[in-house]
Amino acid sequence: MKKKIIVQKYGGSSVKDADRIKAVAERVASYKNKNTDVAVVVSAMADTTDDLIELAGKIASNPTDREMDLLLATGEQISCALLAMAVRELGFPSVALTGFQVGVRTNKEHGKARVEQIDDKRLKQAFKEGKIVIMAGYQGITAEGEITTLGRGGSDLSAVALAKAIKADVCEIYTDVTGIYTTDPRMVPEARKLKEITFDEMLEMASLGAQVMQARSIEVAKRFNIPLHVRSSYSKEEGTMIVKSVKNIEEVAVTGITSNKNEAKITICAVPDQPGVSATLFNAIAKAGVNVDVIVQNVSQSRKTDISFTVPKADLVKGIKATEEVAKTLGAGEVLHSRDIARVSIVGSGMRSHQGIAARMFAALAAGKINIEMIATSEISISCIIALDKVDSAVKTLHKAFGLDKK
Ligand code: ADP
Ligand code: ASP
Ligand code: MG
Repeated sequence: MKKKIIVQKYGGSSVKDADRIKAVAERVASYKNKNTDVAVVVSAMADTTDDLIELAGKIASNPTDREMDLLLATGEQISCALLAMAVRELGFPSVALTGFQVGVRTNKEHGKARVEQIDDKRLKQAFKEGKIVIMAGYQGITAEGEITTLGRGGSDLSAVALAKAIKADVCEIYTDVTGIYTTDPRMVPEARKLKEITFDEMLEMASLGAQVMQARSIEVAKRFNIPLHVRSSYSKEEGTMIVKSVKNIEEVAVTGITSNKNEAKITICAVPDQPGVSATLFNAIAKAGVNVDVIVQNVSQSRKTDISFTVPKADLVKGIKATEEVAKTLGAGEVLHSRDIARVSIVGSGMRSHQGIAARMFAALAAGKINIEMIATSEISISCIIALDKVDSAVKTLHKAFGLDKK
């Protein structure tokens, strides 16, 4: 009989202290038998990555990307070494490997490197020796031997890429909730666990702010059709399958609600309403390395117009600077900004075949006295930019309005 291969990824909350690491070791060991090889990917313990970023911030105002990656990659090495020790304590041979030791080859984009290829030699050798492999997530190495990281939440990507490289039969993502819910269960206690969700919906939810899975990892899983099982490391309960397609996809219009509090808004006032203005503006913003999201341009009445757009909060200062420079060259008016905005989104593949979903969303927000500042749509999502202090109630309102609290 062909040997089964499973990849399990444990997030930071699942390995937050010695007791949790021991509990994870027990679970990992319980999967290892003569006919199954187990490869584990771990995140850094609890808030280690945030703590390291904060520490670097106390030492340098603008640390190099290279040294930042060298620093951040250490978090996963700690949990990886400790978990291998814990597994060994239970009497199972195991080996801890960093991303570089495995050969997780990436491009040179420090801080958000893309995985190009994973060498399976060392892993296959360890499996041959009967070992459980524990790999540090979130990290890789360039052709030049530089250490890189894969973007926040990147251990999900490590796991998916590893599952692809070693042709795993299953890729399990262990976290601190029992699966993917209709919305963040910490925000809305009535949220319901989904039995399955499509890659497209999960990708949309992750991109729009559901932190439970890293968006890029879903992109890769989708491309190679690697089904993911998101479940809890605290219980044996079955979780949520993320798959290519689900049955009865058209029955519900809205599958989930997400929110994102990490966006900010910039408005450039009184820009001349003429060809080339938007090109000049967004070219400058792109050159500054800032990702623009929702864009709204007002209808012009006096041959001048206002343009508003959102950027990640972390890029706001860079975005304002670039916009102010453009405003000067264009002879535009003031540049305004706000950090007090957030995005609330509804997501569902069923939207393709249901009408009136946007109207229902806007009506629900209106009934909740929530003002919509900007609107953005995709084929399977609708997002509204609203005031930051209204976002929690907006999520609850929409969750109810679309009947997601009911079976
Ligand atoms: P890990 O440490 O395992 O990587 P994360 O903190 O990255 O875990 O992701 C898990 C968290 O994602 C949950 O604790 C939950 O609060 C949040 N979350 C946001 N949206 C959802 C959702 N739709 N379903 C489940 N969890 C969600
Ligand atoms: N430790 C990294 C982070 O906090 C990667 C991960 O947890 O997936 O973003
Ligand atoms: Mg995560």
